[in-house]
Amino acid sequence: MQNTPFENYKKRVLSTMEKSGMPKEYATPFLEPENIVEGNIDVKMDDGSTKKFKGYRVQYNSARGPYKGGIRFHQDADLDEVKALAALMAIKCAVVGIPMGGGKGGVTVNPKELSKKEIENLSRGWVRLMGDNIGVDKDIPAPDVNTTPEIMGYMLDEFEKINKRNEPGMITGKPLALGGSQGRTPATGQGGFYVLESLMKALGKKEKGTIAIQGFGNVGYYFARLVHDAGYKVVAVSDSKEGIYVPGGIDPVAAENLKSSGKRLSDYDGAQVITNEELLELDVDILVPAALDNQIREDNAKNIKAMFIIELANGPITPEADVILENAGVIVVPDVLANAGGVTVSYFEWVQNRSQFYWTEEEVLAKLKPIMDDAFEKVFIASKEKEISMREGAFYVALERLVESMKLRGRI
Ligand code: GLU
Repeated sequence: MQNTPFENYKKRVLSTMEKSGMPKEYATPFLEPENIVEGNIDVKMDDGSTKKFKGYRVQYNSARGPYKGGIRFHQDADLDEVKALAALMAIKCAVVGIPMGGGKGGVTVNPKELSKKEIENLSRGWVRLMGDNIGVDKDIPAPDVNTTPEIMGYMLDEFEKINKRNEPGMITGKPLALGGSQGRTPATGQGGFYVLESLMKALGKKEKGTIAIQGFGNVGYYFARLVHDAGYKVVAVSDSKEGIYVPGGIDPVAAENLKSSGKRLSDYDGAQVITNEELLELDVDILVPAALDNQIREDNAKNIKAMFIIELANGPITPEADVILENAGVIVVPDVLANAGGVTVSYFEWVQNRSQFYWTEEEVLAKLKPIMDDAFEKVFIASKEKEISMREGAFYVALERLVESMKLRGRI
């Protein structure tokens, strides 16, 4: 039996503490969340019927600030997964040093089966389920898999209607017109790009290699554009339906234009159609899982040919696969560092909402880059000094900061 995502997270905390010599008893507060909100959401469907969907929010750790993290709408989302993702948010916020704790929300639903109006009803229902558990100083949701700025707008509206006050900072990833931040939509891809460039520099690699990207949603698309513009060759991309392999290179904007005009990735000129599994095993320099968790496991890890993996999805590699990849010399930049650009710009959005003073895109990027560069350096150095993987290095940096805050509060 495969471990669940939350079991995988706990394993990583314990192994990092052991390998880096942190006292084991410090692990206890990080092995369970502080609070869980769970319930059924009644959604009025277009045909007049009412359907129930399970909704969750896991509030992991608040020692460093209010809970922060996205909400995903996915048929496989369940409490265990949301717990793991909330825990990863606590680690992620601490890795980049922003003053926020970790949280995550979810609804078990296939949003592709719902109309626009039904999705709006579901989003408003999720906010009602949360009641006063969310808010600008308590817990600040954001987009995650299958949730968009538009959905954040409905959620803000529902929250403000219930609470009869203006509170744009209660949610991030909003449309610009509702108090969103410049640069939030491309932020995760942008942060991933900064991290990739830092890694190449740290290893003294000058040539721009070939890249395969699993997932062509918001994160994968912006990352693809940035690496393409920087001279890397994107040879494969995929969405939930199919993947394409184009040895001569893919222009991400042209691929996205196909999708937004109702065509498929496989309509790309000269594309070889491949499966998502085949994409992972391509002979490329850099592999970028930017879709869902549990993609590289014990059974397929040995087939990976890339020497570098940049985890833009949350939890795409299992701990068993980590060991196989490490033994094969593959360098993995973990999710809690590689995709932390998204939550960092969410934090910027929250700061702007609170001060009612908005920054230009240049200002946002100028503040994001040093945070990502500094986080990379700290993680890289920790992994070298302690002779641990970059994932363990990232957990180590984060746990040290979390433990310090917990100690100063007298909680441990
Ligand atoms: N869902 C994103 C993540 O996993 C962003 C969270 C946020 O902006 O709060 O990091």
